[in-house]
Amino acid sequence: MQNMVILGATGSIGSSTLSVISQNPQQYAVYGLVANASVDKMLSLCIEHKPVYAHMVDESAAKALQQRIPANIATKVTTGEDALLGLVTASEVDTVMAAIVGAAGLVSTFAAVKAGKRVLLANKEALVMSGELFMQATVQSGATLLPVDSEHNAIFQCLPADIQANLGHCDLTASGISHILLTGSGGPFLTADLAALQSMTPAQACNHPNWSMGPKISVDSATMMNKGLEFIEARWLFNTKAEQLKVVIHPQSVIHSMVQYRDGSVLAQMGNPDMRTPIAHCMSFPERINAGVEPLDFFKVRELSFCEPDFNRFPCLGLAMQACEQGQEATTVLNAANEIAVAAFLAEQIKFTDIAKVNEACLLKVPQSSLSTIEDIVQLDAQARAIAHEAINSIN
Ligand code: NAD
Ligand code: MG
Repeated sequence: MQNMVILGATGSIGSSTLSVISQNPQQYAVYGLVANASVDKMLSLCIEHKPVYAHMVDESAAKALQQRIPANIATKVTTGEDALLGLVTASEVDTVMAAIVGAAGLVSTFAAVKAGKRVLLANKEALVMSGELFMQATVQSGATLLPVDSEHNAIFQCLPADIQANLGHCDLTASGISHILLTGSGGPFLTADLAALQSMTPAQACNHPNWSMGPKISVDSATMMNKGLEFIEARWLFNTKAEQLKVVIHPQSVIHSMVQYRDGSVLAQMGNPDMRTPIAHCMSFPERINAGVEPLDFFKVRELSFCEPDFNRFPCLGLAMQACEQGQEATTVLNAANEIAVAAFLAEQIKFTDIAKVNEACLLKVPQSSLSTIEDIVQLDAQARAIAHEAINSIN
């Protein structure tokens, strides 16, 4: 029996994780659920899953939840950073699903890694911000890191076992690997008229053709910043050089990514676009459990197509690849800038095409900093957010 904590329990990945747990009740128990402020959703999760702890980051949400939890549910409600870090590092906890959205997930995810937990990593922003420290901490603590992001999970599944056991420090070339092919659907605007992009609304940007996801990652998929963040994520997870990583547009989202070997072989992982597959894979690895996902029907799929990314349509992808080359300061700044820009777009304060403008302006102003601790990274993230707000003000 694995005792699990789910960071970001009320979100899209959180709910897919709870669905997989519900199908395998003999193997997984819900020890703790963590969310920001959605009291109604957390209350219903507490009633359904009866966790030992329910943690709300927002203090008033924690109070409201405490008042509404029925007397016959023994769940303890907590709030505050100490309680959160205590929960993810508790000796009772075996596995932490890291699925808080954005930089807000960094500190708790990092704490789970440092405590040597089995960490199922959905929060790609943590690696984008702190890749080097994160992978070092994984080795030092002996934590088991498993990638949930569907592309990285696909790549993981196509890699030899010695690389799977040595993420972050592996040598792809020595294992006969020439390239990692990171696939992406191209999102809702792959074929939209370029001139129409500037007037795209949040609802249109969030209307992903294949995947159902939270609003931030949905907008990132429309700009392809998501693929850019994944490029950086792959760089750290698989210890890749830039020339070993290629982005391939594949609109059907049936192939979730591929590994190309020296001898000409290409291994792909395929499936319906449903996050319960990579989540179940990470939960049970090296075994397999039921995920509740429809089997892939090739007669319905019929066609798989591919094309190269167009950096003119998707400037954010190019910016992320450039930041990856520049280093950790640049990727941390870009991630923060993008979060602020996406939030401003969702609040209808800037246009869709302004997201790339804000990101580019911030990348030109990466402050000099030395990043040797997580605190340094958190500080740079805060600085970059201020720069991004200035960039937004100068647009408006
Ligand atoms: P979501 O918006 O649906 O859910 C976000 C969760 O994070 C919620 O539970 C929310 O309460 C919590 N949260 C937000 N701010 C917080 C804060 N300050 N402190 C603590 N908790 C906070 O997001 P999602 O789509 O589930 O994505 C979660 C993460 O997983 C993201 O990093 C995303 O990039 C990654 N991811 C998601 C998918 C997907 O299909 N949804 C796929 C791959 C990777
Ligand atoms: Mg992904």
